[in-house]
Amino acid sequence: MMLKQKFIMDHNPSTGEVIEKIKISSPGEVASAVKLARKAFKTWDETALKNRISSLKKIERDIIRFADSIAKTISNEMGKTLKSALKEIQNALVSIDKNIEISEKLFKPEIFRDKKLISEVYKVPIGVVAVITPWNYPLDIPLSLIVPALISGNSVVFKPSEYSPMTGKLIFEIFNKHLPKGVINLVQGAEEVGEILLQSDIDMVAFVGSREVGKIIMRECSNKLNRIILELGGKDPMIVLRDADLKKAAEFAVYASINNCGQLCTSVERVYVEDKIAGEFEKLVLVEIKKVKVGNVYDDVNLGPMANEQQRAKVLSQIDEARRKGARILYGGNKIEGKGYFIEPTFIVDVSEKHDLMTDETFGPVVAMQRVRDAEDAIEKSNKSRYGLGATIWTKSQKKALEIASKLETGMIGINRGVGGVTGTPWVGIKESGFGYHGSIDGMKQFTHPKKITYKK
Ligand code: ADP
Repeated sequence: MMLKQKFIMDHNPSTGEVIEKIKISSPGEVASAVKLARKAFKTWDETALKNRISSLKKIERDIIRFADSIAKTISNEMGKTLKSALKEIQNALVSIDKNIEISEKLFKPEIFRDKKLISEVYKVPIGVVAVITPWNYPLDIPLSLIVPALISGNSVVFKPSEYSPMTGKLIFEIFNKHLPKGVINLVQGAEEVGEILLQSDIDMVAFVGSREVGKIIMRECSNKLNRIILELGGKDPMIVLRDADLKKAAEFAVYASINNCGQLCTSVERVYVEDKIAGEFEKLVLVEIKKVKVGNVYDDVNLGPMANEQQRAKVLSQIDEARRKGARILYGGNKIEGKGYFIEPTFIVDVSEKHDLMTDETFGPVVAMQRVRDAEDAIEKSNKSRYGLGATIWTKSQKKALEIASKLETGMIGINRGVGGVTGTPWVGIKESGFGYHGSIDGMKQFTHPKKITYKK
């Protein structure tokens, strides 16, 4: 089989310029990577947990050592501010520590006894795991899958996004330096290489990305009954009730809509505001959004460019459609002319289910607001979505918030705050946001299966 393209042209979204030309892995190279992973799995699986942890700790030290150059690479090829890239690295380090702590609990064998028998239940690794990831958190997301896969004794073939191949390469180099040969392998490329990897001799796919590709993966994995973890994005609602602290809610609406240029699975994508306080809320959002500084990712700004041209075009087309179909743009709404893929932070009101902006994932710096009658109306609208990742509720009444939370069809809910919870709790979606969890004991279990050995007393 011949590849359609031989190189990835890695662009800097701040300038639109090509910063690196990366060779795409050939089908033969993908096959060799999988073969190496299969061979390495045999010994890695038998390596004592404490030695696997010790390798991870060395990796952690190198991530700290090279943090500045990793952050620059992330900013250069993905366009997030340097400040956010450093934060991303910090989060990844916290998550490695948590994974180590969890593994020490999870891998203790469980012993069951009755009058006649003893059963020992172990957690054993699954085998060769293909890790396929997107560009929006090019370090955090791959590590949230690679780390638990490796600690559990699996080997990994990692395919980073074609929009963040250099960060992918750095991750591979740091891990590979501290692991036996073949325990982690790198393949580079886009869809085509992903498909070749799916069809090769792997045992599991751990994927974060779009719903469309998630479905392809599920179909492909059904042939060999490969295990899968799919995290497929969201369309998170934010519900603002009349008794909310409106200033705090407005600050959050802006922050959580534009953070990472809106390119976050749990971005606020739809804001439902009770009619009675909607006018006041609009004014407060306007005050906040006007404070957003757009510019050079190395300066003290809140917003860099969008990660790529296609992404910017998609966001602009959703804004245009909403504008044509009667929504009102109160702020922004245009691309910023000049170099790079910049877009104005945007505040748009009177959007509804008839606009793609309220139904399809936007993934851009847009606060999209719709007025609702009351809490019931907000719940109904929130649940009318294929997605079910996160949601936030803003009210001073904890009782009311908990009642609403129980009715919302999402995996994660934040009350008067975002959805990220205590470290060690799962990152989880339902409905077409996929299945599988990250960052918890349940998350790590997914990279293992139970094995039971029974004997007579
Ligand atoms: P995003 O737009 O967030 O990058 P995608 O779902 O398009 O989401 O891509 C996520 C990852 O899936 C990327 O690494 C991409 O190269 C890979 N990918 C895209 N299409 C396929 C496919 N058909 N099979 C396997 N992997 C794919």
